[in-house]
Amino acid sequence: MMSHKETVKENPVKKKSFRLEFRGVLVVLFLMLGLLPAAIYTEGFTEYFAQIKIEELKNELRERGGVLSSRLSAGSYTDGGVQSPELEAQVSLLGEFYKGRVMIVDRSYRIIFDTFQVATGKLLTAQEVIRSFSGESINRFDDEKQYIVQTMPIYGLSEEITGVLLISASTKDVSVLTERISSSAAIFHIILFFVLLFIAIFLSGLLLSPFQRLREAIAKIAGGDLSYNIEEGTYTLTKHIAEDVNSTLEKLRVVNQSRDEFVANVSHELKTPITSIRVLADSLLSMEEAPVELYKEFMQDISVEIDRQSKIIEDLLALVRLDKADTEMGTNLVSINELLRQILKRLRPIASQKNIEITLESIREVEAEVDEMKLSLAISNLVENAIKYNVPDGWVKVSLDADHKFFYIKISDSGIGIAPEHQEAVFERFYRVDKARTRESGGTGLGLSITRNIILRHKGIIKVSGKEGEGSVFMVRIPLNYIK
Ligand code: ADP
Repeated sequence: MMSHKETVKENPVKKKSFRLEFRGVLVVLFLMLGLLPAAIYTEGFTEYFAQIKIEELKNELRERGGVLSSRLSAGSYTDGGVQSPELEAQVSLLGEFYKGRVMIVDRSYRIIFDTFQVATGKLLTAQEVIRSFSGESINRFDDEKQYIVQTMPIYGLSEEITGVLLISASTKDVSVLTERISSSAAIFHIILFFVLLFIAIFLSGLLLSPFQRLREAIAKIAGGDLSYNIEEGTYTLTKHIAEDVNSTLEKLRVVNQSRDEFVANVSHELKTPITSIRVLADSLLSMEEAPVELYKEFMQDISVEIDRQSKIIEDLLALVRLDKADTEMGTNLVSINELLRQILKRLRPIASQKNIEITLESIREVEAEVDEMKLSLAISNLVENAIKYNVPDGWVKVSLDADHKFFYIKISDSGIGIAPEHQEAVFERFYRVDKARTRESGGTGLGLSITRNIILRHKGIIKVSGKEGEGSVFMVRIPLNYIK
């Protein structure tokens, strides 16, 4: 009975995060860009308009006041002259015209004429009046009470100041006007808001449509259609995103393809020994009363094939384990000289079967941070190959050197060598230069793949050189200190 262990992975609790709707942001931005300048402009304009109006009014008052005060001076109005009704009528008219009040004050600050006719005879000691008695013409705008006050001296016959003319004019008309402008601007703003909103919704949709199309295309790919290629070149950004997605897709296709090839290779490799076993067993079964020797011989062959099968499975498992990015690297400070000595000691008996001489040249003592088990496997594979693909009475040389950053292991042999066109490919899984020969020597085609994987995990590099028929040289370079 097979037991299935089910592991239920719990999803980490998703935190609710605040996300902005990009289109919403765009709409708000458009609205702000459209409304803000309009609002600032109308606000500034009404302010400027009011200022100009008030300034105009001030100048007018100054001028008219000037004319009137000279007429009053000429008529000696405050100097005991004739109380001219014509002059008084002019003064009253001025007051009415500016919706204000005109007062004339005599030397003793007493009001001798008031267009409102309520203050005649009373004293008026306002600041402006006092200052005008010393010859100044005052023109002041009171923002809060909304009026302009203008005071001017009135001269007597002997050129001395005998009175002061005070005109106050209301500026309410100006504020009423600016208020009217503001309220019509508000209506304009509301209309502008809706027009802009409409344009913003339309434009943001238009601007975002390439991204929307991109999203739909990516969703299609996420749905499993890896053959799809995205074409979205409206913006440089969408073009770049599309290119990046396409190149990721391309890599995915390559990975997919190599996985399919790998599975096909594995099945084929595992099938070969099984087929041999089947043939051997079937032929034994079909024979009636086969001699015991033949049984023994066939059984031995079957045993060899089973060994091969186990070796392939072992190597495959080693590769899969190494391929996992999170495989632990148990690094320690290891004497590489000692590590090489141990490997050679273990392999020497195999070499001597072919009368192959193995030598170790340690140029210096090297200690490095490595995963001893893994590196030992990697180097053993290289030395084993150097023996396997050698000629009888040949040699294998292993040398070790180092500088301040790396250590270098060189494995050279006097064997059959590898032609340049195969040199890159020998590191691929199941790749063999000569299939028949490798099978004879019991190779799985996975050894160099495992070796390169281990060296890459140590952040090192491996290279092969040499010529066919003249032997091969494998060069390994690994950092002395393990880089995580
Ligand atoms: P195998 O198990 O077949 O030896 P490897 O991955 O170790 O698999 O090697 C792949 C192929 O590279 C071998 O089949 C062989 O053709 C070639 N090769 C590896 N090492 C050597 C060498 N030292 N000299 C010549 N050929 C070699």
